[in-house]
Amino acid sequence: MQTTFEEASQCPKCKNPGMTTNESKKRVIGRGTITFFQIMCQTQLCPWYETVWIVQVNEDGSIPTAYAQNLKKQYPRLSPEAEQQIVDAVNNQLKAETRGDGEIRGR
Ligand SMILES: [Zn+2]
Repeated sequence: MQTTFEEASQCPKCKNPGMTTNESKKRVIGRGTITFFQIMCQTQLCPWYETVWIVQVNEDGSIPTAYAQNLKKQYPRLSPEAEQQIVDAVNNQLKAETRGDGEIRGR
């Protein structure tokens, strides 16, 4: 099941489009370039106001939904520490996904 970027960047609580606060690209062997968007809810009355979630866009434009949902549950509020945790989680996820390709060894 895929989603669109428009859907993925909507706040899950208030359904308003979130604001992209950060964007980073990561090259993954065998999978091309993956782009990560940090999206923040800008609706002051929303329980998720200033909550950030991550939208991952694969090179082919597909967006894995389950992954984004996991992060949402894990990090409802974002402190600088939590932000680093998200970055680490993303990196770990990528490592786990690329493991077994036979192309990446060690670090
Ligand atoms: Zn919201």
